[in-house]
Amino acid sequence: MNIVIMGPPGAGKGTQAEFIKNKYQIPHISTGDMFREAVKKGTPMGKEAQKYMNEGKLVPDQVTIGIVEDRLAEADCQAGFLLDGFPRTIVQAQALDGVMEKLGRKIDAVINITVPDNILIQRMSGRVSCKECGKVYHLVFSPPAVEGKCDECSAELIQRSDDNAETAAKRLQVYNEQTSPLLDYYQDKGLLRNVDGDRDPKLVGSDIAASLDKA
Ligand code: ADP
Ligand code: ADP
Ligand code: ZN
Repeated sequence: MNIVIMGPPGAGKGTQAEFIKNKYQIPHISTGDMFREAVKKGTPMGKEAQKYMNEGKLVPDQVTIGIVEDRLAEADCQAGFLLDGFPRTIVQAQALDGVMEKLGRKIDAVINITVPDNILIQRMSGRVSCKECGKVYHLVFSPPAVEGKCDECSAELIQRSDDNAETAAKRLQVYNEQTSPLLDYYQDKGLLRNVDGDRDPKLVGSDIAASLDKA
């Protein structure tokens, strides 16, 4: 299965991606995670990306398309993949189509998680993640067993620097302007599957699984 998972910031893409990758045994490719990793390592690409991420803006298409193209060419993607946070612009979607065509493959389904804006703001403002293993928690909706510590590895939980109120609002605006036009793009191709993300994560997950089983 070659799957794209879409939705505004905080919709639950990463949370649901964990379920999907285990069910279908496919790699989870998150451009946001890749950029954060590059920032942490201090690579030239990371330094470039950080300027945009800090302002809630999109990293330029050229940079983003390049890293995804390289990642999709790796061996573990040959039996399928789950793309999270990419594409985010029409140019990226067209580039993905080109890559798939070159590889003689196609996208099987595009999952779109919908959540009202006021809930998205709450999700982003309470999101924390493990400094070591990256596991994502929410201070109110899914807190760790011990405050400030990861359930899996006991490492410290940290907040993303772009999850502050101002940058979160900017990211929502960027989503509405630059990413939401992709919904029509994939609807026209018959690939779009809308899922109500404003429910218990397990219910959201079972809806996604049901729609993928039909794909
Ligand atoms: P995205 O990858 O789309 O930005 P995440 O999966 O990181 O979203 O989720 C954003 C925040 O909301 C996290 O703190 C996560 O724990 C929480 N969250 C995710 N799904 C749900 C849900 N269905 N109900 C309540 N909180 C959720
Ligand atoms: P969220 O989980 O809140 O939707 P991500 O982790 O996917 O956010 O992305 C964080 C930031 O990384 C974005 O605000 C943007 O700056 C950058 N980014 C991630 N994916 C892309 C992309 N496909 N194109 C451009 N920028 C991206
Ligand atoms: Zn951890």
